[in-house]
Amino acid sequence: MSTALAYALHRPSGTFEPTEITRRELGSNDVRIKILFAGICHSDIHTAREEWGKVNYPLVPGHEIAGIVEAIGSSVTTHAVGDRVGVGCMVNSCRVCENCLAGHEQYCAKGNVGTYNSKDLDGTITQGGYATSVVVDAHFVLKIPAGISLDVAAPLLCAGITMFSPLKRWGTGPGKKVAILGLGGLGHMGVKLAAAMGAEVTILSRTSAKESDAAALGATNFVVTEPAALRELRSSFDLIINTVSASINAETYLSLLRFNGTLANVGVSPEPLSTRFSPLAQNNRVLAASGIGGIAETQEMLDFCAANGVGASIETIAANEIDAAYDRVVASDVRYRFVIDISTFTA
Ligand code: NAP
Ligand code: ZN
Ligand code: ZN
Repeated sequence: MSTALAYALHRPSGTFEPTEITRRELGSNDVRIKILFAGICHSDIHTAREEWGKVNYPLVPGHEIAGIVEAIGSSVTTHAVGDRVGVGCMVNSCRVCENCLAGHEQYCAKGNVGTYNSKDLDGTITQGGYATSVVVDAHFVLKIPAGISLDVAAPLLCAGITMFSPLKRWGTGPGKKVAILGLGGLGHMGVKLAAAMGAEVTILSRTSAKESDAAALGATNFVVTEPAALRELRSSFDLIINTVSASINAETYLSLLRFNGTLANVGVSPEPLSTRFSPLAQNNRVLAASGIGGIAETQEMLDFCAANGVGASIETIAANEIDAAYDRVVASDVRYRFVIDISTFTA
């Protein structure tokens, strides 16, 4: 076993405190990573504040991990000491079910093992990336290509893949009109990726506060989600990806889809996503949802980002700023992802 210095929450309403945690002994298929950067995803906050159910405290969140390989197990051939690597939202799965074998480990029939607050196959509870190191099965360790610096790569491990997967699945490319609903961590990656894939991108946001960033992110249009403005957009998009961290009116956004269009949800809605028959049937529309992406697809996304010069837009923070960053994410006051500089961790 090894120890790591982590920043942990000890109760839902607590503040982050330096806490020593243990990492498992390096197994033959494991990689030990010195973590340099960890992104803050809204899912960390939902989990930490028990908005998604009971949590095992102390909790070390963090599933947007970037760092350097420190040690490898005797059977590991895919990674070497000194490699630049990343870890996303899962660290294990059964590896033998139909979905795992097809490369969709996130949909493992037995449930994937989340990077934190999840029971690992050995029965221990996983702890995430707000820590100086982590031990992960080599299969779940991604290569961060040269050309993307580790700080802007970290958010790709969740926000990047969560957007890349539905963008690809629903055919984003030249000639397609894509709208991204909610311009936060996921949303801004969606805009950059959809633009890099060649689509015409519209941002749908609650206020005009972020309008001046639209062009730099790669969007052609920016629309404030007011009824009159949305009425103008009826039957106009091939794909809308909803990244909102609250409930939305599904029918409002379904009505904006043209023939065969898809409303793909990745924001976790606390309420049912409901629609009457006609807003869905009209134009042969699809209502969909997805969770992150598989390991091979995550590597494909990282390689795509390197080839296209795509990285997250980040604000780097120190260990003592995590609590304030959580409040700022909830207030939508982030441009567009907080990334913790793990070198600032002190006991
Ligand atoms: P974020 O940075 O907070 O962005 C969410 C955006 O949604 C905000 O910037 C805001 O955009 C909009 N929004 C927030 N509250 C809203 C409200 N009450 N009504 C309408 N719009 C609101 O969060 P994130 O990290 O991108 O995560 C977004 C959601 O995706 C979270 O629920 C997270 O748990 C979930 N998630 C899902 C997956 C998956 O695999 N499916 C993966 C990661 C995260 P505007 O200010 O532009 O309106
Ligand atoms: Zn996430
Ligand atoms: Zn499986």
